[in-house]
Amino acid sequence: MVTESLVKIGTLAFVPFIDHTTILERIAVIGAQISRDYEDKDPLFVPILNGAFMFAADLMKEISIPCELSFVKVASYLHEQSTGEVEDLIGIQANLKGRHVILVEDIVDTGLTMSHLVRKLTAHEPASLAIATLFIKPESLMTQVSVDYTGFEIPNKFIVGYGLDYQGKGRNYRDVYQKAD
Ligand code: 5GP
Repeated sequence: MVTESLVKIGTLAFVPFIDHTTILERIAVIGAQISRDYEDKDPLFVPILNGAFMFAADLMKEISIPCELSFVKVASYLHEQSTGEVEDLIGIQANLKGRHVILVEDIVDTGLTMSHLVRKLTAHEPASLAIATLFIKPESLMTQVSVDYTGFEIPNKFIVGYGLDYQGKGRNYRDVYQKAD
């Protein structure tokens, strides 16, 4: 797919932010780092669908040690008895107990989703739990999240592309676009 100079989704316009080559170069660095850190640990990568699917695919190609992969999805639904939103993890099939788990996420914004996932996964008693995220917005963090591998620290602006969507669209772009001012 060619790089677009302007992407329109719904009523919003997005301009080029980080190109595919830059993303892949950064992922190669992270992949090499994880391969060194997890030698002989047989890590289990747990990418979060849908957003992390492209990042996970390219990251796995840069892992040079034996490892496993198990995608999960966060299901958000409204609890019948309250107005609060409840999130659940679906698709956890592999036995996480005693495993070295690496959560693979597209973006950490407020950090609330990630801290929720960490709590959920910790209950499975992994030997260790690390977080790899392609993007983080440090200015938006509302809770402390200890991220082990970060692709890019970005400003607090909405982005799409390379797996990330706006209203379900835009995941297919190979480059990342930022909401125009
Ligand atoms: P958090 O719980 O950290 O606030 O939110 C994490 C989730 O919000 C991400 O997994 C993603 O689905 C969504 N999100 C946060 N910022 C962005 C953004 O800039 N672009 C897109 N497409 N999704 C975002």
